[in-house]
Amino acid sequence: MSKLKIYTVPAPVLKEKAQPVARIDDTIRKQMDDMLETMYAAPGIGLAANQVGLLNRVLVMDLEYREEDGAANPIFMANPEIIWHSEELSCMEEGCLSIPEQFAEVKRPAQVKVKYIDRDNKEQELDASGLLSHCVQHEIDHLDGIRFIDHISSLKRNMMVRRVKKLVKDYEVL
Ligand SMILES: [Zn+2]
Repeated sequence: MSKLKIYTVPAPVLKEKAQPVARIDDTIRKQMDDMLETMYAAPGIGLAANQVGLLNRVLVMDLEYREEDGAANPIFMANPEIIWHSEELSCMEEGCLSIPEQFAEVKRPAQVKVKYIDRDNKEQELDASGLLSHCVQHEIDHLDGIRFIDHISSLKRNMMVRRVKKLVKDYEVL
């Protein structure tokens, strides 16, 4: 496995729509594994292909990973699709590895049902609520070129993009 570069705002790739995967082959499996390693190292709970500069509909998530004791429960998804969502909404503070150190409350459907292809090419469904629901919707948004800051006011959004640009520049100077 190898670590991949995570693109940060305002990288154009984060605003592009990713294309469906035909089937899960070894290349896609390697991409999924590399994305998982990159996400664990960041650390984060979700990562979509756009964030590592790839434009296929692949994402990884793990809400249970703990570095200390190696606890993990990774979810690999290709071609995820929300096939049902609740009318009820949920508001939760979100962050993003592509928008480091910035957080904002985002309102989304409280529960969703997601259809996807897993790492072994099998069709699966996931019922998500709470943090997992926010996470999977956030990652699917990425595949459609939508960042969580696109759900908040343009004033706040522009401020966060400016902060990230400065932050990234500071890192590069070090
Ligand atoms: Zn994100």
